[in-house]
This record gives sequence, structure tokens and C-alpha cells, in this order.
Amino acid sequence: MDALHQRKDALSWGRAHHFTHHIAQPAFADELPTILKERGARPVLARGLGRSYGDSGLNADNVLIDMRALDHVRGFNPDTGVLDAEAGVTLKDILELCAQYEGRWFLPVTPGTKFVTLGGAIANDVHGKNHHGAGCFGNHVLSLRLMRSDGTVLTCSPDENTALFRATVGGMGLTGLILSARIALKSVPGLWVENEDIRYDTLDEFYALTNDSLEGWEYTVAWIDCLARGQATGRGIFSRSRHIASSRPAPPIRDPRIALPVNLPNIALNKITMAAFNALYIRRARRKPTRKAVPFDGAFYPLDAIGQFNRLYGRRGFYQYQCVIPTRVERDATRALLSEISQAGVGSFLAVLKTFGDKLSPGLMSFPMPGTTLALDFANAGASTLALLSRLDAITRAAGGRIYAAKDGRVSAADFQAGYPQWTDFARLIDPGFSSSFWRRVGAGAAA
Ligand SMILES: Cc1cc2nc3c(=O)[nH]c(=O)nc-3n(C[C@H](O)[C@H](O)[C@H](O)COP(=O)(O)OP(=O)(O)OC[C@H]3O[C@@H](n4cnc5c(N)ncnc54)[C@H](O)[C@@H]3O)c2cc1C
Repeated sequence: MDALHQRKDALSWGRAHHFTHHIAQPAFADELPTILKERGARPVLARGLGRSYGDSGLNADNVLIDMRALDHVRGFNPDTGVLDAEAGVTLKDILELCAQYEGRWFLPVTPGTKFVTLGGAIANDVHGKNHHGAGCFGNHVLSLRLMRSDGTVLTCSPDENTALFRATVGGMGLTGLILSARIALKSVPGLWVENEDIRYDTLDEFYALTNDSLEGWEYTVAWIDCLARGQATGRGIFSRSRHIASSRPAPPIRDPRIALPVNLPNIALNKITMAAFNALYIRRARRKPTRKAVPFDGAFYPLDAIGQFNRLYGRRGFYQYQCVIPTRVERDATRALLSEISQAGVGSFLAVLKTFGDKLSPGLMSFPMPGTTLALDFANAGASTLALLSRLDAITRAAGGRIYAAKDGRVSAADFQAGYPQWTDFARLIDPGFSSSFWRRVGAGAAA
């Protein structure tokens, strides 16, 4: 390995995984073939902004290629909204570009943070609060350029190198380096959104609000109190929004306003503080729905206001659990998951519940399926946390659901493979020069 490769630790966003890697930091795309040659026998993996929670973005003892500096916009057509950008361009960069064009264009799909690269958004085929109408990020990728480990560059799209396109969208970085992509932005009336928050008391009410909002509301999500029990299981605040035209100036796109400089002591988050916070938060929400025009940044990215909020869980970090349960059994299985969590008395301040629609992604390994997705954090308390997460896996698997690789750092190979029976087709399309800690744990070669 030459000077391009430094030996350094890289952390997962959940901070429960940190491994030493050989890290390459190319400043220009033409350095990539040399890096790939110099990797020797070591497998490589691309890294974006490191917002994946577990080990899917890590490659212990092997090579990570930091793609952040490859961040040039190659072209943008303001008449069609087609953007051609290098993989290191971030969603925040794209939003800033949208603001320059009077807010006529917007990301077609965005996750709950704008600090994600284009390459990372494609490799995890991210979803957002508009999944019920827009599908996944991959539904809006027109084409991408992929460098394989032998240095070959292929253009992949729904019509060209189709199998590789489908494997790369949601392919967790295992099919090669995404160099750039052409995506279709969506036309919007403006960058302000009309937002309505509705407090509700039961899981059935959550589903009723979801059904009421499918038409007319582009974005829906519920923040739920994961410690509520019995009748109150699944209670929370249902939030729905849509873009509106506004004569106000374009809203600012914010960097974090405060940052956690150090890890908080583990004691800061315990059952009592969490229960008190959740009860207060739900009670503060007015009984009468509140509807107002808000800047998109605060509505879509509330967590971006706190820099390094992942330090909230202390030195041992945390796990995020995100699963999807198919529509057929979503009510019972979601209730079972929430009961298991509230009985354990752990979980995050607030958890997120959302239904996915039936728009299929081109991604072979994409996470969403029609049904309900639940996402929440668990402070890493060691064996007891892992045991609880395994119980949640059992409920998810029995329901025919699956977990999201971008959030995972511990699922068993058997549970992962049961959720993604197509994984063997995918494995055939992986570039032999690529691997990740996650894939060595759950893919071929892992004990199923
Ligand atoms: C606060 C927060 C909220 C989130 N909300 C959501 C959400 O609502 N929906 C959702 O779907 N996800 C969500 N996520 C997860 C996040 O969107 C994904 O993990 C995303 O992939 C992270 O992108 P990244 O640039 O940080 O990539 P990394 O985490 O660095 O890498 C992610 C994967 O992409 C691969 N990759 C990165 N760049 C390239 C490239 N150029 N070529 C090939 N492969 C590449 C990596 O190998 C890795 O497998 C959230 C994360 C956070 C922290």
C-alpha cells in the first residue's frame, strides 16, 4: 500500500462499530484506477458521509475509498430537472442547487438527513416520507457510471447493463464504485411546505390517518411513544406535509445549530428520562391538529439541527432497528414488536412509524416492500440489547418482513437471508474485488 492508503479507524454512525481500515482519499476520479490496482488482494468498499448506522459501510482491515471529494456537478438542465453529478455530491448540495433555481425543483426522495452522498443514497436505495407516492431513490435514477475493480467503467441504467443497474441500486456498495449518476429531480411549487401535526391515541388511528392522507399529502410519518402499553400502544403524533407555493423568500438550508462535543454519560438516557420525555412530548402536542407553513429543512431534517447527535448514547454507542412488515400482517406484527419493546422498557425517545406504498424499486436488494416500517434507536447495553433485537428479528421474520442493512450491525445471516431470498442472485453480481464487514457477516460464507 502506498501513501494513498492511511491506516485509520472508521466508525459507524451508531458508534458501536469501529474498525481499522486502509483509507484512500482520492481528490479526483482519475486516481481511482491506481487505488484499485494498489489494493492488492484486499477487498475495497466506497465510503460516503458515513451515515449508515452499523457495519454495512465498513470494511474491517481492508480498504475504504472515501468518495467525498468527488463532488462535482457535471450538468443540470433547469428545464427538465435532470441532474448529472459525481457520487460525492451531497443531498445538501443538491438542495442548495434547487434553491438557486427559485425552488422549482426538489429531491425526488430524501431520507431523514441531508448529510448523505449521492453514492450512499443509491447504494442503500434510500426511502423517505413520500415512499407511498414516489417509491425509493432508485426509482429516480436515470443512469449511473460504475467502476469495477479492474478499472472498467460501465454505464448502467434500466435499459443498459440492466442486471448490474438493479444490483447497484440498493447494492450496499458491493458491485463497484458509483462514479456519478443522472437523476430526475421533482418539480415542486416551492421550498416551503404545509405541515399538519395530529396527535392520536391508538395504532388503529395511525392506520386510519395514513389511509386518509394517501391522497393529497406527499409526505407522511408518525413519531410514536415506544414505551406506551396496552390500548395506548403505537400512540403518537402523525405528521403530514406537502410542498406549497409561497411569496416568502426561499428558506435557509441549515448546518447543525448545536453540536455534542463529547459522548454523553450513559446515565443521561434511561428508562425514567425516556418515559418522562415521551409523555411530555405527546402531551405537548395539541389535541386540535396544527397546520402551518414551515421551511422544508426543519420539517424533513429535524435531527440535522444537532451536530453529532449520535454521541447522545454514550461511549458504547447504539443500534438502530429498522424493519418492514408486509401489509397482510402489519397491524398484528407491529403491535407485537411495540409490545416487546415497551415490556423491555428500552428504546429511543421517539420511534418512527410509516407505511410504504406499492411502487417497486428497480433495486434487487432494496429494503422497502408494501407494509409498515418501524425505526428506533437502542443504546448499546451489550448482551441484553442484542437479545431484545433478536426477539424483534424473530417477530419480523415470522411476519415475512426484513431488516434494513443501512441501519443494521448485528442481524444473523439466517434472518437476513430469509428476508432477502433474492440474495443469491445478487451475490452473483457482486464485484469480486469488493466486500464489507456486513456482507462477510450475512452473505455467502457467513454461517446461515
Ligand atoms: C439521521 C439519519 C436519518 C436517516 N434517515 C433515513 C431515512 O429516512 N431513509 C433511509 O433510507 N435512510 C435513512 N438514513 C440512512 C442513510 O440515508 C443511509 O445510510 C445512506 O446510505 C448514508 O449515505 P452516506 O453518504 O453517509 O454513505 P455511507 O454510510 O458512507 O455508505 C453507505 C453505503 O453506500 C456505499 N457507497 C457510498 N458511496 C458509494 C459510491 N460512490 N459507490 C458505491 N457505493 C457507495 C457504501 O459502501 C455503503 O455500503 C438515515 C441516517 C441518519 C444518520
